[in-house]
Amino acid sequence: MEEQERALTMWPAIIHAKCPRCRRGNMFDTPMYSFKSQVMNKACPHCGLVYEREPGYFYVSMLISYAMFVAEMITLAVAIHVLTGSNNPWVYVIVIIVIGVILAPFNFRYSRVMLLHWLTPGLHYHPELSGDKDA
Ligand SMILES: [Zn+2]
Repeated sequence: MEEQERALTMWPAIIHAKCPRCRRGNMFDTPMYSFKSQVMNKACPHCGLVYEREPGYFYVSMLISYAMFVAEMITLAVAIHVLTGSNNPWVYVIVIIVIGVILAPFNFRYSRVMLLHWLTPGLHYHPELSGDKDA
């Protein structure tokens, strides 16, 4: 209840997928990698912020995760070319599919984190909400 529970600065809050308003509550109820699918909290367990601001709000995050996937794919293709110099298209296809599947939970999580932290108008960090509840 001491170090962990204090509000984080922007980057740690994003990395740990904390609530964008209080930076204390977890956005997700499950770990990023597990055999169960990721479950997002409906509302912040600390400040009560409802994450899905309107019905279908997270459709936008699908566009973000698509952009993340494209960026990762291009990076991978360049990396494969630099590292192996291969001209065999199957090397690219197989590596990109395997790493794309591995990165899918990461993209799912951080597309939503980026949407709420950076791309939602009117949603900002409120330090006054990050204090202890009984304080
Ligand atoms: Zn919160």
